[in-house]
Amino acid sequence: MERKDLRSFTEEEMIGIVQEYGEKAFRGKQLFEWIHKKQVTEFSQITNLSKKFLEQLSENYNISGVEIVKKQVSKKNDTAKYLFSMADGSLVESVWMKYHHGNSVCISSQVGCRMGCTFCASTLSGLKRSLTAGEMLSQIYEIQRETGERVSNVIVMGMGEPLDNYDNLLRFIRLLSHDKGINISQRNITVSTCGLVDQIRRLMEEKLQITLAISLHAPNDEIRRQTMPVAKKYSIEEIFSVCREYTEYTGRRITFEYSMIDGVNDGKAHALELASRCRGLNCHINLIPLNEVKERKCHRSKEENIRDFKITLEKNHTNVTIRREMGSDIDAACGQLRNQYMEQTNSD
Ligand code: SAH
Repeated sequence: MERKDLRSFTEEEMIGIVQEYGEKAFRGKQLFEWIHKKQVTEFSQITNLSKKFLEQLSENYNISGVEIVKKQVSKKNDTAKYLFSMADGSLVESVWMKYHHGNSVCISSQVGCRMGCTFCASTLSGLKRSLTAGEMLSQIYEIQRETGERVSNVIVMGMGEPLDNYDNLLRFIRLLSHDKGINISQRNITVSTCGLVDQIRRLMEEKLQITLAISLHAPNDEIRRQTMPVAKKYSIEEIFSVCREYTEYTGRRITFEYSMIDGVNDGKAHALELASRCRGLNCHINLIPLNEVKERKCHRSKEENIRDFKITLEKNHTNVTIRREMGSDIDAACGQLRNQYMEQTNSD
C-alpha cells in the first residue's frame, strides 16, 4: 500500500491518526508541530514520541519532501529559482525573492497546466498532475531550510492553475497560516488565477484574508480570447462581476495581472478600456513586461509603451504598478526552467 503524506493532514486529522494507534490526542498535536513548526523530514528526528509508535506510523505514512535538482541565482543575488523533484520524479519550480520588507516564495500548484495560455511556458506539455497540500508546503519548507532564512510572503503564481486544484489549495492555505505551523498570515498569501469564475465564488465563501490576483491580460473578450482559452468559458463581464462580489464580501482588494504583449494589448485605447472597467472597483493593476518564452511567438511591449500605458491608467484614476523585474536573467517565467531541464535530459 502506498504511504500517505503526513504533511497534508490538518491538526484534527492528525489527532485522529494517532488515536487509531492507541495514542492520546495531545500526541497528535505534538506530531503536527514536529511536521509543520519544526519541519522535520524524517521520523527519526522526532524525539518525544515513542519509537515503537513512530515505527508503526512510518509503515503507513511518510513525510513528503521535495529535492533540489537545480538552483539558479540571479546576478543581483536577490532572486533564486529552484527546480524540485517530488517522490514520483515529477518536476516543479519555485522562486525565492528577497525584498526589504521580507522574503517571498512563489510556488507551483500543479505539474504542468491545462489552461493553455499562449504566452506561457508551463502549459506547453499540458497537465501532468496536481500537487498535494504537503508538496506545496514542501517547496517553502525546503527553501527555508536551504537559505536559512524565514519566508514571510507566499505567492501561488508558479506552474499550474491553483483553482484547478481547489481542495488541495485550501488545505495548503489553512496549513500555511496555522498558528502551530509555519504561521504565515493569510494577508501575506496571494493566489493567482486565470479567472475560473465558479471557483472564485466558492473561494469567496471561505472568507479568507488572502489576496486574490486575476490574470486579466486584456481589456475585452476579443483580445483575451486570442491568448487565453479560458476566456471562451468565462467572459470578462463575468470576471468583473465576481470580483465586485469578492471585494464586497471579503473586504479585500483584488489585483489584476496584465502581461504586456507587443502590439496585442498595450495600446492607449486598451488602457482606456481597462480603466473604465475598473472604475469603482477596489482593485490594483500590476503590469508585467512579458517574459519571452522561446517556444512562443509573443513579444514584450516596448518600454515606452509600458510607461505610457501606466500613465494613461493613472490619469484615469486606476491604481497601477509595473512589476519589478526580478530574475529575468534566470528564466523566472513559469515553467521555463523545467522545460529546459527536460529538454537537456531527454537529449542526453
Ligand atoms: N495559473 C495562474 C497562476 C500561474 S501564472 C494564473 O493564470 O494566474 C502567474 C502569472 O504569470 C499569470 O498572470 C500568468 O498569466 C503570467 N505569465 C505566464 N507566462 C508569462 C510570461 N511568459 N510572461 C509574463 N507573464 C506570464
